[in-house]
Amino acid sequence: MNTSGSKPLLPLDAAWEILARERTSLRIEEADLGRAQGRILARGVRADRDLPPFDRAALDGYAVRLPDRREGEMTLPIVAEVAAGESGPRRMRPATAVRIWTGAAVPEGAEGIVPVETAQTRGESLILADPLPIDGARRPGIADRGEDARRGALLLPPGRPIGPSEIALLAAVGVDPVPVRREPEIAVVATGSELVPPRLRPERAQIRSSNDVVLSALLRAAGIGRIRSTRIVPDRPGLLREALRRGLDRDVLVVSGGVSMGRHDIVPDLLAELGVRIRFHRVAIRPGKPVLFGIGSGGSGRTAVFGLPGNPLSVLATAVVFLLPFLRAARGEGPFVPPGVPALLERPIRRGGGLVHFVPCRAAIDSLGTLRVRELPIHGSGDTVSAAGADGFLQIPGDGVERPAGERVGFLPLPGCRLKGGDG
Ligand code: AMP
Ligand code: MG
Repeated sequence: MNTSGSKPLLPLDAAWEILARERTSLRIEEADLGRAQGRILARGVRADRDLPPFDRAALDGYAVRLPDRREGEMTLPIVAEVAAGESGPRRMRPATAVRIWTGAAVPEGAEGIVPVETAQTRGESLILADPLPIDGARRPGIADRGEDARRGALLLPPGRPIGPSEIALLAAVGVDPVPVRREPEIAVVATGSELVPPRLRPERAQIRSSNDVVLSALLRAAGIGRIRSTRIVPDRPGLLREALRRGLDRDVLVVSGGVSMGRHDIVPDLLAELGVRIRFHRVAIRPGKPVLFGIGSGGSGRTAVFGLPGNPLSVLATAVVFLLPFLRAARGEGPFVPPGVPALLERPIRRGGGLVHFVPCRAAIDSLGTLRVRELPIHGSGDTVSAAGADGFLQIPGDGVERPAGERVGFLPLPGCRLKGGDG
């Protein structure tokens, strides 16, 4: 029943290229500004008024308009006071001062603000001595209307992830609710007749299923997508076909287990029966070689299908190498980008076998600010014990060549990993 027996291995770059060519476009929806954190902006945002919208006092002090004749010591009467939010006088007459507080609208004609800390006053007058704290060219203490942006200027492009600094700007220009991309809806199916949920007591030949909850955790930590269903299903064609068919109703279906070459690895054939066009199956990487990607269709249109090998480390690696970068592009963050940032090896490492290796590692930033990675000792791709504590994976070719300490490699962080300073 299995069709993958002699399938050649696809080079990693070719698999990435296939994912990069896949176009998905999710509807636009609206999110309350207060809940837009982490979403992707769906439309460009323009200034609805000048920013700042009026000449704004940048400090507490005295707005002054100098007399026409400027010489020696000058005494300017303090004729008014304006606080933030108050309209205050519209214009200043020559040779007057206005007491003004940060954030207030500065009256027209003001030539600058003398800070309250250095101002000299006598009764209700401001005394200005030589040299004048106001020189006329730039208006000290005043943020000019429109100096940050002119009305109509493009402030944020579509595709920008919304973080706290974007939220500040969206609020300033009154974008609430915010147009955002709909998040991909994801179905997770963990298959294996040996699996029981973590709360149940396994029989002798059973194990507790971790991949389904791991995938939820990865997506949540990455702030990506919405998990709509997770199921644990035995390797039985009837049950599994039904679970896969339902999963195809979502934007993305992620299956763990059942994609290798064993007699019970029936996921590829079932997906094909359900009309999924397999775009790749088996990639030249370790762990995660049997990984599968295809495109199907269900209730909501096109469905991207990922089949991840069931070993817990394979799931982590293939999720970071394929699934998460695909989802980042699919949710509108920009074009597909192969994952990984440069890091320096802390210890030598060597891998053979010709595949590209993704090695669980610790990562830390040293005292010079350099990112350094160190291989974790692992027994195999089923070793969840040693892999606990991994910050991510380091990527090296399996060419048998030893990479010395200090060599630059790619580091693929697990979402949510917090890089520690110091010496790791
Ligand atoms: P498979 O990809 O189905 O050949 O599974 C490879 C290995 O991963 C086997 O030892 C499985 O028991 C194990 N495995 C499969 N699914 C899970 C899961 N959901 N949680 C933990 N281990 C799993
Ligand atoms: Mg299995």
